[in-house]
Amino acid sequence: MSHPLQVTFWGVRGSIPMPGADTQRWGGNSSCVEVRHGTAPPIVLDCGTGARSLGFKLVGEPGRQLELLFSHFHMDHVFGFPFFVPIYTPGYDVTITVPAFSEDEAREKLGRYLNGVYHPTRLRELPCSVSFRPIRSGRSFSTGPFEVRALSLNHPGGAMGYRIEAEGTSLAYITDTAPFARPGEGVAAGEEPAQGELRVIEFLRGCDVVIYDTMYDYGEYLEKMTWGHSYPEYALALTKVAEVSHLVLFHHLPDASDEDLDVLSEKWSAHAEPRVTVAREGQTLSVGQTSK
Ligand SMILES: [Zn+2]
Ligand SMILES: [Zn+2]
Repeated sequence: MSHPLQVTFWGVRGSIPMPGADTQRWGGNSSCVEVRHGTAPPIVLDCGTGARSLGFKLVGEPGRQLELLFSHFHMDHVFGFPFFVPIYTPGYDVTITVPAFSEDEAREKLGRYLNGVYHPTRLRELPCSVSFRPIRSGRSFSTGPFEVRALSLNHPGGAMGYRIEAEGTSLAYITDTAPFARPGEGVAAGEEPAQGELRVIEFLRGCDVVIYDTMYDYGEYLEKMTWGHSYPEYALALTKVAEVSHLVLFHHLPDASDEDLDVLSEKWSAHAEPRVTVAREGQTLSVGQTSK
């Protein structure tokens, strides 16, 4: 019997959490996505503020093991880590994948945040079992039913994208990243892929679902090209060439209100190849077919 990948969005916002009246329906928490396959220990993608609610859910379940994958350590992706209750739960086994060259470097990167200065919790005092897996672009690893591959993205200070496969079903998490070609060139201009786009297209090739950073619209991207974020038309052009089935727009602008995201959702609702939806906090996607 095969299982679908269950993908739940616990935080969909970019840069800073945005609680308030304007973000109630689409969600104000920053990046955190849960990926499950059957009863296997889950994969958690980033630990923005959405991780707090996820943590409470996880400790209420029977499992005591999880994989946490960080794209990078900008604050919107790590805010939630010291509020993620599994790390305070004795007996919990947490493996943390970090873009780094060594286990020591991986530990040191997260340890800079949890050193008693920015938060009272110190990484070395956690009661759970924590292990670090450094990962570099182009590398892969297996854990439970999952095969995970990593690809470096176009973001100030670097960020890592991940492709996760289980039983032939595939999901990619591509945030935070600017386009891989200059404006007017490459796939978004309707031309052949630029050099920098080829490796990303190969990485995403045939994915069932791609979650992609589309924080800006095109005008805003042109004003902030070095800030390391994309726009929907770019993600669409790239995933279309890569023959992706479903594109999920993610890492929403802090200023994007519920009404703005309604408009964005409506704008792309009729699109096919790929199908396009907007990530909404609390939503679960079931990816791939169940069969007996
Ligand atoms: Zn971010
Ligand atoms: Zn970032």
